[in-house]
Amino acid sequence: MAIHTGINWETVKRLKNQGRHGGLVSRGGAFMTAWMLHNEKENPLYREFDYLLEIMKEHEVTLSMCNGMRAGAIHDATDRAAIQELLINAELADKAHNENVPVIVEGPGHVPIDEIAANVMLMKRVTNNKPFYMLGPIVTDIAPGYDDRVAAIGAAISSSLGADFICYVTPAEHLALPTPEEVYEGVMSSRIAAHVGDMIKLKKTRELDLEMGHARRDLDWDRQFAVAMNPARAKAIRKERMPADTDGCTMCGDYCAIKIVNKHFQF
Ligand code: SF4
Repeated sequence: MAIHTGINWETVKRLKNQGRHGGLVSRGGAFMTAWMLHNEKENPLYREFDYLLEIMKEHEVTLSMCNGMRAGAIHDATDRAAIQELLINAELADKAHNENVPVIVEGPGHVPIDEIAANVMLMKRVTNNKPFYMLGPIVTDIAPGYDDRVAAIGAAISSSLGADFICYVTPAEHLALPTPEEVYEGVMSSRIAAHVGDMIKLKKTRELDLEMGHARRDLDWDRQFAVAMNPARAKAIRKERMPADTDGCTMCGDYCAIKIVNKHFQF
């Protein structure tokens, strides 16, 4: 259950004092901040955290500690409000861990590539290596309509560096509620990013990639489809533009590089 535990008066004070280029973009973070300011009261989820843990424990719920202050613009990445919330969440995560309540800590949303490694290291270090997830991150703010790819770039990097869980982003992000097709696109982009990250983070062997390399070298299309992450899409594209000579494809046509060399020797 995603809960905003790390927003307290200290966090809100830092947000107010430092200002923001992209405002506050977490919905739950905005609700909680507005509620606190309107009622002039401390966040009850922070104030009554021990009681919250009792409820979590009783119902065997995993606590996902939200990042309500996460940057919604790369120029706000790694700012004081976000770091303040992270420190609070890290302390509360230790408490949850000691009470045997499973916990995940949420990481940032918009981060330029050169700050991702620092963010991953900081998250892991201050949370004592708790599982944490990244919302990509989004690595540029100027590609609306393509934010699934923008997030996948960040997710591949954050995942390779140690992020344990990545959030999928659709092409409709920042624009509209996604259609089912856009959700599908977003999930596929995230799956690719996760695979790329896992190759590094988990020291996974790269057998599927090796298999694909061999299948391409051998112009074995069935094997290529069997290894493909989305065989149906790969098959449909090839079928739509099938060449006369079915060994190669319409990209190079008669000048298929693989075929030309395969005539002379076998790898
Ligand atoms: S035609 Fe070109 S792209 Fe297609 S299989 Fe041959 S070398 Fe690869």
